[in-house]
Order: sequence, then structure tokens, then C-alpha cells
Amino acid sequence: MNHISIAIDGPSGAGKSTLARLLAQELRYIYVDTGAMYRAVGLHVARAGIDSRDRAGIIGQLPDIVIELRYENGVQQIYLNGENVSRAIRTEEASRYASDVSAIPEVRAFLLGMQRALAENADVIMDGRDIGTVVLPQAAIKIFLTASSEERARRRYEELLEKGEDVAYNDVLRHLIERDKNDSARAAAPLRPAEDAVILDTTGNTLEQSLDVLRAVIKEKSNHVV
Ligand code: C5P
Repeated sequence: MNHISIAIDGPSGAGKSTLARLLAQELRYIYVDTGAMYRAVGLHVARAGIDSRDRAGIIGQLPDIVIELRYENGVQQIYLNGENVSRAIRTEEASRYASDVSAIPEVRAFLLGMQRALAENADVIMDGRDIGTVVLPQAAIKIFLTASSEERARRRYEELLEKGEDVAYNDVLRHLIERDKNDSARAAAPLRPAEDAVILDTTGNTLEQSLDVLRAVIKEKSNHVV
């Protein structure tokens, strides 16, 4: 049976995961957060004491990494070698590691099969950086979400404060701009909109406004493809 895929790509903090999760609930699709997979690889590497720029060292760790997504009460949980790391992957350190390991083609190849298999087995909303371009180029609906760097940093800063992390807004902004640059400039699956993606800028929107715009795009596109 053919399943429907919705790809949502864009830079950090554009609201992809919150919006994708809510839409997946509404549509009864499985939500797949591919960033969490890169973060889990990053966390493993950090815990192994390997420098995030040590490509050979990181590639050498891949056979020791087992990543699983499990859905508990409808919420995605990510497991790294049997441990639920859904919270541990959300720190600034894990973000930096994720960005560095994700530039390594072997790491991307390691996760690609798993991402495609998830989309073969269920209707999915998958969010990431290269879903529309590389992972699911045949996705029925592709959306590229963006917002100004300042607004994205502010959202991320507030999220981190809520989690009790001690961070400064300027550092969050600086790291976010660095990560965007890494993600866009890398040779392997760089961050960019697919040619057939709908580009949406969420700067200044409330969550509800962004949701409405996305619902409208999905509805309009669904008339053509579903
Ligand atoms: O989306 P999130 O911020 O959790 O992703 C963490 C990092 O993983 C990103 O900065 C990016 O470098 C990488 N990533 C990627 N490709 C994806 C998803 C995430 O390279 N499909």
C-alpha cells in the first residue's frame, strides 16, 4: 500500500517540530523528527569523548549506535542503545554535536534507510533539513518553513529557559546562525528548499496563524495528490 508523506524542512527554530507534531495529530499521521536522530548520534559521540570534528572517530562509532523511534501515548520518544534520550538530546551541546555529525555523509547514509523505511510503513509528516530534497523526494507535499534569525533565536531561547537551561539570548542567536551556516554550506544534503516546496515565512505569526496557513497549504495540495 502506498503511504502519503508530507515533508517539512527549514532552519532551526522555524517552528517545524511544533507545527509538524500538531498537524500529525490532526491528520492521524506519524510524526518523524529526523533532527532527533542526528542529535542522538551527536549525543553518543559526545558521551564517547570524541571531538565533534573527528570524522574518522565518529564514523568508527556508527556500528555501536542503535537508534529507535517509539511512540508512547502518541508522542515520539527516541532511544539510543535502549536508553530514552528524548530530553538529553535537547541541550545546546547536543545541538552543536548534531550539526557537526550531520555534515558527515556516512552519518547521513546511516540514518537515511531508517527514515525512508518509516515513510514506507505509514503516512508520515517528517521534519528536517533534506526531507523534500533527499530523503523523500517523492513526498506528496513539501513545505519549507522559515523565519528571521532573531525570531527563531528568541523562540529557542524561551524554550531553553523553560527547560531551566542557563543561557544568554546572544549566545543562542550566535549558535543558531553558525548552525544555519553549517547546514546550508555543507556538501552533503545541504539545507535548501526543494524546487517544488511551498516556502512559508512564519516571522511575526502566532502558532495558531502558522497552523492555519499550513492547514490551507495541505488542503489545497491534497486536492491535487490525495
Ligand atoms: O531539527 P534539529 O534542530 O533538532 O536538528 C539538529 C541538527 O541536525 C541540525 O542542526 C542539522 O544540522 C541536523 N539535521 C540534518 N538533517 C535533517 C535533520 C537535522 O542535517 N534532516
